[in-house]
Amino acid sequence: MTMTCLGIGIGVSNSIAMGKAYLLARRGYRATPRWVQQSEVEAEVERFQQALATAAQHLKSVRRQIPESIASDITEFIDTHLLMLEDSALTDVPIALIREQLCGAEWALQIRRDALVRVFDEMDDPYLRTRKNDVDHVVHQIQKILFNHGQAQEENLEKRVILAPDLTPADTILMRHQGIAAFVTEYGSPMSHTAILARSLGIPAVVGIRNVTRFHRDGEQLVVDGRHGVVIADADEEILAHFRRRIAEQQAHAAKLRGLRDQPAITIDGQSVGLMANIELPEDIETTRSNAASGVGLYRTEFLYMNRDSAPDEEEHLRTYLAVVQGLGHIPVTIRTLDLGADKQVDGGCPVLTPPACNPALGLRAIRLCLKEPDLFKPQLRAILRASAYGPVRIMIPMLSNLDELHKTRRIIEETKLELTGEGIAFDSDIPVGGMIEVPAAALSAASFARHLDFLSIGTNDLIQYTLAIDRVDDQVNYLFDPLHPAVLRLIKMTIDAAHAAAIPVSMCGEMAGDPRYTRLLLGMGLRTFSMQPDALLDIKHIVRSSDIRQLSRQATELFQELDMVDVGQVLEKINADAG
Ligand code: PEP
Ligand code: MG
Repeated sequence: MTMTCLGIGIGVSNSIAMGKAYLLARRGYRATPRWVQQSEVEAEVERFQQALATAAQHLKSVRRQIPESIASDITEFIDTHLLMLEDSALTDVPIALIREQLCGAEWALQIRRDALVRVFDEMDDPYLRTRKNDVDHVVHQIQKILFNHGQAQEENLEKRVILAPDLTPADTILMRHQGIAAFVTEYGSPMSHTAILARSLGIPAVVGIRNVTRFHRDGEQLVVDGRHGVVIADADEEILAHFRRRIAEQQAHAAKLRGLRDQPAITIDGQSVGLMANIELPEDIETTRSNAASGVGLYRTEFLYMNRDSAPDEEEHLRTYLAVVQGLGHIPVTIRTLDLGADKQVDGGCPVLTPPACNPALGLRAIRLCLKEPDLFKPQLRAILRASAYGPVRIMIPMLSNLDELHKTRRIIEETKLELTGEGIAFDSDIPVGGMIEVPAAALSAASFARHLDFLSIGTNDLIQYTLAIDRVDDQVNYLFDPLHPAVLRLIKMTIDAAHAAAIPVSMCGEMAGDPRYTRLLLGMGLRTFSMQPDALLDIKHIVRSSDIRQLSRQATELFQELDMVDVGQVLEKINADAG
């Protein structure tokens, strides 16, 4: 048995892939000074012009690979970059530098890029400042071709395993449409938005393997085990056969679970449990339907702002929400208002990008950003309200940390309703308004929030991040990310109890809700509604149907009585084992 194990990282999705490596060294093309002889000048100009043409061809080919159904936003982003490839600001000056100062093409482009970025950096207008991302993106494409002797290496990412220092959520969406098999990054953590997207899109992925982009050959055959966080290179036939067997086992398990699709999510002692879906992209509609979710507990709307130059207007919001509401028939859809910032950056030049924060996770994100920028918030609220005329829709507010934010948000919602009424536009006047409990302050004040909200939803990804003071995107502190920390469990329990006392619904929509290890403990703690990536729904249903809540409640009560004295992980193992 032979293999070269590339590395062990953190698995972020429960699937395996095999494919050829593709190195994505986005930030790696920085040219150093190089000059040419006078006799070489015209050939160098020709080389630069050829690189521009190849970059344009490449972008056009990426554009063609994107399905019509999601064309508008991503293709607009690509079109902007195509226009920039023809813009004299980026094309004429490097040519002049080659001709007049005998710069090599890469160096001429680098000088021009640095000058443009300096101009953008000095602009007061935050929107214009963000345009430098576009410059960088386009310059990167051209430099890559110049560095790679005229070849646009990204010609085809289909079935490739992407190796990159890091990926943004926007990169992940774009590459998914190019048909990648898997990705492996040097940085990142399982709770980052990129990892959550990988899970929900079913992309096998491993993060946090330092130097993975250095120890490889482009085109090398790799196996990526997204469950155990293992990446293997040069595996022999025996190893490959092992992974093929595991893929077949996974497929058999999924087929067995499909038999549960039309079975109710009811425990042994007859209690009904709500199993809802977390969705984000248009394709999630189908997986939500095929896994028979009882509703959408979290519709992340940040996707609408990614890989584009302008914020979506009210009509685009509405079209997108209607596709979901009507596509899912009668089940309730909980639309979360914009949660940009921190781990959810948009890429591209979309003007909602906020100025760089000292500490993005603690900065102007989510509802804080929306309250500061009503022009950004209002079109979304109007569209959500308008969508509510077509099916059961709920509004959910992210990152609440004090009641003042909640009251301000409710006032804006009421104003928006009045506007719509004045315009004779239909909406559900009783639309439920809920809040995410994902900041410790909100969990500790859950009783107050519950008095002013129609439902609560526990966002454990952020709740754990903020309670334990660990950045959810930093793999170096990922070992501290612990859903079973007594402080976290107490905050979850306080939130569930507060909602029950106020007689309002409470659900959980963080990743913990879709992790089968925690289902029984959460049932014992009183949680009756779980919202998760659609692929996890049947797995969790399987556990629900074999659980006895009377027994789990007893066990959870005992655990809470001795929470600081026991090893919670061991108690949980026993709870899971007892239930069989
Ligand atoms: C959470 O924080 O748990 C959550 C569901 O929201 P997001 O992961 O989108 O921040
Ligand atoms: Mg969150």
